Amino acid sequence: MLVSILPIFVLWGIISAAMEEHLLNDRLEDIRFQTHLVAVSLNDSNYINEPTIRPVVNAELRRNAIQISAGISILDSMTVVIFNSQDDGYMEGSTWPSFNVITALEGTPSYSVQTNEEDLVSIEYAAPIFDGYNNIVGAVVLSHIIPDAGEMVAAINNRTIWLVAAIGIVVAVLVLAIASWLLKPLKEVLSAVKNISDGHLNQRIELSGKDEITALADAVNDMTQKLENTENTRQEFVSNVSHELKTPLSAIKVLSESLLYQDDVEKETYKEFLWDINSEVDRMSDIINELLTLVRLDETELPLNITPFTCNSLLEGIIKRLKPLADQKDIKIDFNAEFQIDMEADEMKLNLALSNIIENAIKYSHQGGLVEVMLDSDSKNAFITVVDQGIGIEEESQDKVFYRFFRADKGRDRESGGTGLGLAITHKAILLHKGSIRLSSKVDEGSIFTVRVPLVTKL
Ligand code: ADP
Repeated sequence: MLVSILPIFVLWGIISAAMEEHLLNDRLEDIRFQTHLVAVSLNDSNYINEPTIRPVVNAELRRNAIQISAGISILDSMTVVIFNSQDDGYMEGSTWPSFNVITALEGTPSYSVQTNEEDLVSIEYAAPIFDGYNNIVGAVVLSHIIPDAGEMVAAINNRTIWLVAAIGIVVAVLVLAIASWLLKPLKEVLSAVKNISDGHLNQRIELSGKDEITALADAVNDMTQKLENTENTRQEFVSNVSHELKTPLSAIKVLSESLLYQDDVEKETYKEFLWDINSEVDRMSDIINELLTLVRLDETELPLNITPFTCNSLLEGIIKRLKPLADQKDIKIDFNAEFQIDMEADEMKLNLALSNIIENAIKYSHQGGLVEVMLDSDSKNAFITVVDQGIGIEEESQDKVFYRFFRADKGRDRESGGTGLGLAITHKAILLHKGSIRLSSKVDEGSIFTVRVPLVTKL
């Protein structure tokens, strides 16, 4: 509002000053003309030196003075007043050595503009009078009060003030309307953000357009969607954890109660039940250990312990460790690497990640199957491919195998001792290395997991 009203005030000031100046110049020009007219009429007339002709001329001058509403004074070369048309002016016979008079007597017309105590503007104009020989013999002074100058300016100002007020009101209304129109979407965003921060994660902002506020609303919507997803995942995770731990706990309860409420239980039965209880406890501790591993990988500031190592040896070590498991099902593990691949990465975490994939390949292979592990690289990445001829994963489950607690076939996989956390850990560890993991699989034909890890991991 200030920005729009201030220039109007400045303009007002400039216009009223210009009008005043114009008015003054107009009058000044008029007075100058009149003064010269009087001076010219007195030139060569002997008026100054010959008092006898004065009365006739004086009468003429007085009429003239009334006509042009100015005071006319005639002075001789000694600044003595010879004639004054105004009674309140300088007395005839007194001297009037004002600047204008002296300058005029020196040959140059001169004027001054003054404002008196009543704010009236007066103009005084003096011009020389010559005799027949071009000598300065006196001066004529016209004094004129511009009676209407103040009033005219005040009238203009009065009108302008109404104009300024009207423009001000229109501008104010416009500014307020535009501001509230511009701020409306921002207010919507603000109230939505408040709602979101109060926990209403399903809140979305509906704005359409291509401006920055719509872009902000879209960004807030994206952020809220991610928050909602994270919240859903967290809730799902908590319910999965409870469910997964409840299963072995209920088994332990059933087993122990059946022992407690039975009399004369045989020693073998006791042992058998205790073995079952023991394996359920193992299962619970597996789940808890893997959860702890995941939580540790989730800590974003967790630094990778990067060391140089040979990927071939890493894979050979894993295969050697898993051989007894493969032997149980008569599964053959083939390892193929064309050349030695040296890496700089977190060896322990990669070991964990790749072990899970190879162990799965064995777990989900049929008796007597074949698991192939291949190692290759380009200038930047190492590629590890694990191929099995096992049960495979159906199309719609392939994306989900990296989710926590996801099992393609709940019943069968639990029997296989899986927790559903292995591939989540693998995925997380590979992402920490800025690598990627891909899966292609066909039910009853087998699965291929391809892992890409940068040869040198930078933190
Ligand atoms: P689990 O401990 O159950 O093996 P994972 O996270 O390692 O958990 O795997 C998740 C699920 O993905 C498994 O339960 C299984 O259904 C499926 N899966 C993983 N690897 C294979 C594979 N090589 N062949 C078939 N299914 C697999």
